[in-house]
Amino acid sequence: MDLGYSDEDEAFRAEIRGWLEEHLAGDFAALKGLGGPGKDHEAIEERLAWNRHLAEHGWTGVGWPKEHGGRGLTLWQQVIFHEEYARANAPARVNHLGEELLGPTLMAFGTKEQQERFLPKILAVEELWAQGYSEPGAGSDLANVQTKARLDNSEWVLDGQKVWTSNAHFSQWLFVIARSEPGSERHRGLSFLLVPIDQEGVDVRPIEQLTGGSEFNEVFFTQARTAADLVVGEPGDGWRVAMALLGFERGVSVLAQVVGFARELRTVVDVARDNGALDDPVLRDRLASLDVELEVLRWQALRGLSADGGADDDGAASVFKLAWANWHKRLGEVAMEVRGLDGLVAAESTADAPYVLDDLQRLFLFSRSDTIYGGSDEIQRNILAERVLGLPREPKGASQK
Ligand SMILES: Cc1cc2nc3c(=O)[nH]c(=O)nc-3n(C[C@H](O)[C@H](O)[C@H](O)COP(=O)(O)OP(=O)(O)OC[C@H]3O[C@@H](n4cnc5c(N)ncnc54)[C@H](O)[C@@H]3O)c2cc1C
Repeated sequence: MDLGYSDEDEAFRAEIRGWLEEHLAGDFAALKGLGGPGKDHEAIEERLAWNRHLAEHGWTGVGWPKEHGGRGLTLWQQVIFHEEYARANAPARVNHLGEELLGPTLMAFGTKEQQERFLPKILAVEELWAQGYSEPGAGSDLANVQTKARLDNSEWVLDGQKVWTSNAHFSQWLFVIARSEPGSERHRGLSFLLVPIDQEGVDVRPIEQLTGGSEFNEVFFTQARTAADLVVGEPGDGWRVAMALLGFERGVSVLAQVVGFARELRTVVDVARDNGALDDPVLRDRLASLDVELEVLRWQALRGLSADGGADDDGAASVFKLAWANWHKRLGEVAMEVRGLDGLVAAESTADAPYVLDDLQRLFLFSRSDTIYGGSDEIQRNILAERVLGLPREPKGASQK
C-alpha cells in the first residue's frame, strides 16, 4: 500500500494547519482540549459557536461529496484534516453523530426530500443528532429492540425506552430503531425513524456517570410522534439501514483518535517525569510498551483505511476495536500508577459536582467503558470466532432464535 502523501496533500496539510493556527485563537483558544469521550458535556455553547465557525468556513462535512454540500476531500486529505485537527488540540466537535453517521446514511438510503431537509442543517451545525439504538434489554443483542412504532394516519407513534443515548440532552433529533411490525422478531419488522426530541412524548433523563458528568441519557417515548415520511429506507427494513450506519462509525476519524491517544500518553509521561515516577524501571517499561503499541495501532488504522486493507469480513475492524480499546484502558491504569496515592483523591468538589476530576483521573474512569461501547470485547471476539475463523456459532438463548 502506498502511504506517501502527494505534494497536493502536503499543500492541503499546510492550508488546514495554517487555518487552525489563525482561527483557534482569541476566545476560541480557551476551548483547546475540551469535549470528547468523558468530557462531552464541557462548554457546549462555546463549542457550538466554534463548530458553526468551522461550518461558515467550509470545514464541516469535509468528506461529504460536493453535491451534498460537503468539501469533497479525498480519503487521505480527510485523514490529514483529522490529524491536524487533533494535533491542534481543537475542541471535540459536537455533531459527530449527525456528521459522521446519520449524514452518510441519509446520502445512501434517504429520499431526496430527507436529504434536502436534513443535510444542510447538519453541515451548518443547526441541528444536533443522537443515536437511539440501545435499550435496557437490547445492547449487544440489538435485534431484541422492543420500542414500538405504529402508523397513525400521517404520523408514526412511538412507545418504549432507549438508554445510554449520548448527547440527547442537547440534541434536537434522534435516529431510532423501533419495531413497526407487531409480532415480528429479531431483525425483521424494524424501522429506522427520525424523531424530533422537543415534544411532549419524549422525556430525556440524563444519567450521572462515574466521571461525575452526564453525557448519556435514558429516553422515554410515550406516544411520541414523527411524520410518516421520516422513515429512512422501507418501513420494516430498518435493520439494514441501522447496520449500514454502524459501518460508517469506522471512518477516517480513527486516525484523529490515535493522535489524541498520543497526546494523552505524552501527558502521562510528563507527569511521571515531574513526580519522579519514571525512576521506577517497571513503569518506564510499561510506558515504552504503550508507545510502541500506539505506533502499531497507527499503522493498523492506516491499513484499515487503505485500499488493500481488506474487506470488512477479514475482521480488521474487530481486531482494531479490541486493540485500541484495551490499549486505552491500560493507559488509564498506568496513568493512575504514575499518579500514585495522590491519584485516589479528587482535586475538589463544587456545589454542582461532588467531585471534580483531573484529566488523568477522568481518563482512567472513562476508559473503563472503551471495551463496552461500539461493540464490547466479547462481541468482537464472537465476530472473529464465527465470521473469520469459522468456528461454530454460539448457542443462542431462548429469545435469540
Ligand atoms: C460511553 C457510552 C456511550 C454510549 N452511547 C450510546 C448511544 O449514543 N446510543 C446508543 O444506542 N447506545 C449507546 N451506548 C450503549 C452501547 O452500545 C452498549 O452499552 C453496548 O452495546 C453494550 O450493551 P449493554 O450495555 O446493554 O450490555 P449487554 O449487552 O447487556 O452486555 C453485558 C455484558 O455481557 C457481555 N455479552 C453480551 N452478549 C454476549 C454474548 N453473546 N457473548 C459473550 N458476551 C456477551 C457483554 O460483552 C458485556 O460484557 C453507549 C455506551 C457507552 C458505554
